[in-house]
Amino acid sequence: MKSIVARLAAPAIAGVLLSCGAAPVTTHPPMNPSPTLPLIVQAGAPVLRARAEEVPAEKIPTPEFQELVRTMIATMRAAPGVGLAAPQIGIPWRVIVLEDRDELVKNLTADERRERERASFDTRVFVNPVLRLVGEEHAIFFEGCLSVKGYVGLVERSREVEVTGLDEHGAARTWHVTGWPARILQHEVDHLEGTLYIDRMKTRSFVTADQAKALYAGKPIADVRKALGL
Ligand code: ZN
Repeated sequence: MKSIVARLAAPAIAGVLLSCGAAPVTTHPPMNPSPTLPLIVQAGAPVLRARAEEVPAEKIPTPEFQELVRTMIATMRAAPGVGLAAPQIGIPWRVIVLEDRDELVKNLTADERRERERASFDTRVFVNPVLRLVGEEHAIFFEGCLSVKGYVGLVERSREVEVTGLDEHGAARTWHVTGWPARILQHEVDHLEGTLYIDRMKTRSFVTADQAKALYAGKPIADVRKALGL
């Protein structure tokens, strides 16, 4: 699994193995990177600030591409994270993977799950995803990205989105979601445009993940906003 990354992006890889995506305030201890998984590129790397390239449809069935998808899913799980975009492992292609497993969701209280509209979902792969924001409703929560290791910030996102693209077999897929999966999708598709959550966050809310946990865990987001004057 290392080979495709080594072939395609070895110079771009730096940093440590971490999850990505809209993270809960709950943090996880750093993990030792597996020798078979790529490291996750950290903020500052040019690959995180470039527009990723469309994947030609004929590439999708190739062993190289299939290996990339497997590597991305394994890297996301090992972190553990709820989403990963190919540029985060140094591959400048328009590919994202997402999943929210029971074991991550159950770290939240029932109230937190309800407030975030967060529920587990099975692994999804989108190649060349196109995102459409649906409706006027927004939601604001802490979001983390382990390409910005150790911090979180409040980000306002559309509550509802629809994504279209190809799956890992090249079949056309559409996914219409509300709540936390919509947040993850917006976060991951942003990566393909060279955008990080820090570009969208309420800058006054930027905080270390440890501080956020100590100060805000279990509190309704309205109280957090009040405390921050947001
Ligand atoms: Zn991210």
